[in-house]
Amino acid sequence: MSVYDSLDSITEELHKCMKCGNCMAVCPIYKETRQEVGVARGKISLAEYILSGEIEMTKGMGNRFSLCTTCMACNTNCPCGVRFDKIILAARAESVRKKGLQPVKKIAFTALKMQRVFDFGMKAGSIFQGVALKNIPNRHSKLARMRVDVGIGKEKVFPMLSKKTLRSEFPQVITVKNPKMRVGFFTGCMINYFYTDIGRAVIEVLTENDIEVVIPKFQACCGIPASVNGDVASARTLAKRNLRAFERMGADALVVACSSGGTAWKHVFGELLENDHELKALADKWAKKSYDISEFLIHQVPFKKEGLGRVARKVTYHEPCHLNRGQGISKEPREILKSIPGVELIEMKEPGRCCGMAGSFSLVHPDLSGQISDRKTADIQTTNTDTVATGCPACRLQLQSGVENAGFDEEVLHTVQILAESYRVGKGELKRSK
Ligand code: SF4
Ligand code: SF4
Repeated sequence: MSVYDSLDSITEELHKCMKCGNCMAVCPIYKETRQEVGVARGKISLAEYILSGEIEMTKGMGNRFSLCTTCMACNTNCPCGVRFDKIILAARAESVRKKGLQPVKKIAFTALKMQRVFDFGMKAGSIFQGVALKNIPNRHSKLARMRVDVGIGKEKVFPMLSKKTLRSEFPQVITVKNPKMRVGFFTGCMINYFYTDIGRAVIEVLTENDIEVVIPKFQACCGIPASVNGDVASARTLAKRNLRAFERMGADALVVACSSGGTAWKHVFGELLENDHELKALADKWAKKSYDISEFLIHQVPFKKEGLGRVARKVTYHEPCHLNRGQGISKEPREILKSIPGVELIEMKEPGRCCGMAGSFSLVHPDLSGQISDRKTADIQTTNTDTVATGCPACRLQLQSGVENAGFDEEVLHTVQILAESYRVGKGELKRSK
């Protein structure tokens, strides 16, 4: 039985917890709130009471289960092997079954399912975004703040919507001479609508390594925002749409440059579609050939080292929770960075600690998200680097927000952007760094 279908599915997981409290030491929420409900143990107790019928799943209970960034740090520090990631998903799905989805989330997830309408809305947004957002002068990226505080944190920094989406910028198939492989690129929403620079870097690096790139136009959101908020029906719709879009185009492998998207293709689609024999088989087939871009460039088609130009950057690496703990990818991005001439990698304190973004968590709990971000930002500042590399566009946004609010000069990039920069320097398209 899937965690998305019934709270009973986590009974065994709940029984494993011996209430030792080890999860307190690593939980970013508990660190800020010092409340039992913030930590895995507290939420496990709530789930137990609900399952035994001692308390009801009310809206208030649902709000308590929203206090989690799904960072999975508690999983790794639990001596009993409790998979809290399963527990939180099941509890949130139960909350939506019993009490419904918050209206704002309902509108957002419905829009995500209506691809053309969503695209049109984003296009209109890119034209009129100046009405709601005020540009921040920043020499690295186009960032903005809300002109009026609408309750999602006036300190929050947003990336500007790109005038052209990544998927409209490129053909569905980008050919190369003598391709080694045909690879599907799942762009995800943030890269398609906001951080198109990351998407261009992925395409640049893949084609530089003689890979034909396929970008199905009608791929959709990965559905993770819906699944982690308990909207299982929307997540299922999006999973099916993505699987069919890539299956139609065909590819030897699939790459992702977003940690949530990677988790969706490798794990979540299969779990969501467990009860549909045909689609489950399709999800499993694609899960086996889905890779994070750093993983792909290290293990599948080792990237070319010849032709890399010198990029003088002092870099620190932030590990996205869903890349590191979710997919076990931690050394690959570092290996890429260390291969780039001129890059000096300087580790920050606790590079794997959550940045506090967690998708809609940062909008629902802006103050808490900001507090978690402040700790991360302080750790970055201590490294005296000029660049933070990461493997997820959502983390990039949170880190940019933290750096901008702290007021120091640090560029935040996806690892693949630094690799693309090095190839460009090697080809003389960019000036060689000193
Ligand atoms: S560390 Fe594991 S066993 Fe201990 S309280 Fe937390 S979830 Fe339960
Ligand atoms: S997943 Fe992260 S935020 Fe959620 S309870 Fe575990 S450690 Fe805390």
